[in-house]
Amino acid sequence: MFSYSRIVDLTLPLIPGVGNRPLTIERGRTEEITVHVPVDHPWYIMHRVATISHIGTHIEAPYHCFPEGRDLASIPIEQLIGEAVVLDLSTLPPDSTVGAAEMAAVAARAGGVRRGDIAFLLTGYADRRAMPEYEHRPSLLAESMDYLTEAGVKLVGTDLSGLEGPLTPGHLDCHLALLGRDIPFIENVANLGALSRPRVFVCALPIPVQGLDAFPLRIVAFE
Ligand SMILES: [Zn+2]
Repeated sequence: MFSYSRIVDLTLPLIPGVGNRPLTIERGRTEEITVHVPVDHPWYIMHRVATISHIGTHIEAPYHCFPEGRDLASIPIEQLIGEAVVLDLSTLPPDSTVGAAEMAAVAARAGGVRRGDIAFLLTGYADRRAMPEYEHRPSLLAESMDYLTEAGVKLVGTDLSGLEGPLTPGHLDCHLALLGRDIPFIENVANLGALSRPRVFVCALPIPVQGLDAFPLRIVAFE
């Protein structure tokens, strides 16, 4: 039977109205929002929610970059659940570019990448977004994504708001390397540094909305 001693939430909370791409919520009485018989109770509410699809901890589907690619509802559930390996890029020097050789070295330190793994990339720069040193975060190259897909990784996540960094030649290099091979990826994975081991069991589950390219999701790690 599946056993674990600890659950770690890898999800950023979403705070309505906060951030440069805010999610907004509008509260109303239930009967104002839906066609509904008035209820004799002082507090019976619903919300209207408005957001762009890339907010907080969110997953991006192939449809984000490929018109024929899988949308959010078409990602097989098997790709969203399984063993995850945490690849620690946080000890790389400032202004690092991460190619295949660098990714292979980081993977070796985590005990290797196995076929069917989810790969989480921990840069350690997520808390430094407002600081000048953020400009010196690791820049992933497409070949580092090729390394992961050739090793059999089924899903990738990063603690940053993007895989490509200041020294990645093309804005979509990593997007295309992954989504072009039907590998979704997750941005703004939280709390990777709180995991006590490099290999955990993960559920990363977005709501399967048809026709969407991306959406926030809840990611939970079991140790
Ligand atoms: Zn995004």
